Amino acid sequence: MSEANPSKKRGGHAYGRRSQQMSNTAEEGELCLYIGHSLGRFSSSSMRYDSHQACVRCVAGAREGRLSFDINRLLVKERKRALKFWSQVEIGDPDECWNWNGTVNSRTGQPQFAWRRHGISSSTQHHPQRVAMWFTWGDLGYTGVKTTCGNRLCCNPFHLIPQKVGVFVDHESFSESFELQCELHTLRQRVAEYIMEEALKAEEKEMRSAMEDELKADLLLNPDTDFTDKFASVLADMLKGDHISQQTPGDTSLNYNPIDNEDDEKPTQEF
Ligand SMILES: [Zn+2]
Ligand SMILES: [Zn+2]
Repeated sequence: MSEANPSKKRGGHAYGRRSQQMSNTAEEGELCLYIGHSLGRFSSSSMRYDSHQACVRCVAGAREGRLSFDINRLLVKERKRALKFWSQVEIGDPDECWNWNGTVNSRTGQPQFAWRRHGISSSTQHHPQRVAMWFTWGDLGYTGVKTTCGNRLCCNPFHLIPQKVGVFVDHESFSESFELQCELHTLRQRVAEYIMEEALKAEEKEMRSAMEDELKADLLLNPDTDFTDKFASVLADMLKGDHISQQTPGDTSLNYNPIDNEDDEKPTQEF
């Protein structure tokens, strides 16, 4: 089957196949981003259509028009990445465009999100619209994605349609879905929390490096060379792992034994 081999025609880029029809044959592939989409409970692979490496279960969901903003449906290790991604998107109302605020390649002018996805694509940068599709429509591999709004920076999943999958799109039911509104509300909250956490982390890092700089400056300016020498020797010991604080007590015979046996008339030293 010709589709089973990655196309080399377009610069060896797997995305060259995005305009082709989805195959109907599946193979064991990379583990899907979503919980419960592995082959078995403890399996680390998922069934994927061999043409686009789209998860079979995600394709089934997309075909039914299922779309979700629930981060908790993702594998635990992917949730932070999803938050990182959404923190760079201007999440607006369902009928608005959600512009990408993240990296734009200075050479190609293309918006991009860094992510190494082994077995899915050799590219380490992905179009944010594709990533938005992965985090909402499903892990559809390198299935093509088009916007209904024509805005190439828009990451609103309601404006994104996975191509050649046969997705069911009902915009009215999306905008009226209470469940989706709740999910969107939760996503916004979690993104805000994530941004706050990251800001605190950055601040802490900055403070620590400022303190280190201050300490270094103090040492350089300190006329008490004795102190500097001591500090240097402690540091050298620490680096070698020889410092007293890093040693484990080995010989306990030298330690004072606080347990005093009163019944023992003869001191043990005398024999
Ligand atoms: Zn899946
Ligand atoms: Zn849009």
